[in-house]
Amino acid sequence: MDVTASFPRRETRQIMVGNVAVGGGAPVTVQSMTTTKTADVEGTLRQIYALAGAGADIVRCTCNELAAAEGLAQIVPRSPVPIVADIHHQYKMALAALDAGVHCLRLNPGNIKRPEHIKAVAEACGERGVPIRIGVNGGSLHPDLYAKYGDKVTAEAMVESALQEMAYFDEVGFDRIKISVKASSVPLTIEAYRQLSEVTDHPLHLGVTEAGPPPIGTLKATAGMATLLAEGIGDTIRYSLTADPVEEARAGRQLLEVLGLRERKNVDLIACPSCGRAEIDVFDVAQRALDAFGERQIPLQVAVMGCVVNGPGEARDADLGIAAGNRRGHLFVRGQNVAVVPEDEMVDTLVEWAEFMHEHGADAALERAKSTKDAARRAADEDRDRNLGERGDDVNHAATAVELIRKRA
Ligand code: SF4
Repeated sequence: MDVTASFPRRETRQIMVGNVAVGGGAPVTVQSMTTTKTADVEGTLRQIYALAGAGADIVRCTCNELAAAEGLAQIVPRSPVPIVADIHHQYKMALAALDAGVHCLRLNPGNIKRPEHIKAVAEACGERGVPIRIGVNGGSLHPDLYAKYGDKVTAEAMVESALQEMAYFDEVGFDRIKISVKASSVPLTIEAYRQLSEVTDHPLHLGVTEAGPPPIGTLKATAGMATLLAEGIGDTIRYSLTADPVEEARAGRQLLEVLGLRERKNVDLIACPSCGRAEIDVFDVAQRALDAFGERQIPLQVAVMGCVVNGPGEARDADLGIAAGNRRGHLFVRGQNVAVVPEDEMVDTLVEWAEFMHEHGADAALERAKSTKDAARRAADEDRDRNLGERGDDVNHAATAVELIRKRA
């Protein structure tokens, strides 16, 4: 099944953030933000490289003082990804960031309020071909809008804030815009983006602001962004987590991969939840496998299964996997047993075969197993029979429970 076909994208205009296209049918991109002082050029660049390595396509840095703008002048030419400058209250920082060569600005309409300042920034961006994100934030709405909507942050108020800002840009003929309307409430964020997507075709930057630390922060951001992405809304995304921003970039990349909106870059590790039939500590082995694969760029689905009775069958759609049985690991490729290794070599074997398969393909992996696969299948059969003999075929006592339920009926 073509997964992307399940989530047709809403049509938007396209803007370029440096060499990265946003909107207009371009792949949905991942953003994150540095937590260093932007004046600390080396520290910030280190973090930008880490973010790019974890999946960020675009990185934002704060530009809150002149020293930060000067830092940006040195960071931008050495960055592996386009840089967005985050502007707070001073429009002059926006002009300084443009002088530093940034690829995009982010303005919060609640913070830069004077129309002449907003227009001056838009004009300067227009001269340089630099886009602007209108970043409306539920927590910093313009006081007039807040009052207009009954002293409450509403989806309508956030959308109106974005439209007001766009009207200023219109006056100076500037339209290289992307927009975000983030709130810390997931339902409010979803509603605001839905309304916004009805009234504009500018690309949208998704996020749930101040989502908090993982795991709840990740969950909130995922709930909001995944809902919208599944509706075709959103052209670029950012997780706002109270955590190392590398986690933001990684989560963003993974969300797009699991939704089928970006090609898989790293291993997709699947694992059974374990049960009474497991012959290893599945949680431990799965975690060790995750750590061993780390950031290796192996775009395969790899399974860790707790028993050889059901493991290979349940994970037959994985590219390869390993299932435990009688203190040994049964390695399988596309559902076919290929090798047997001692239990303490399971993780290393999995990584080594994944690398081989990534480099040479599944057919070569099956060819590699030509001389071992018959013995591997027999060993798997033995361990399966032994497990069934010891634990029976109702290890989770489901049949007993069903019998009990029927008796009560
Ligand atoms: S039956 Fe086997 S593969 Fe399935 S959950 Fe239990 S241990 Fe894991």
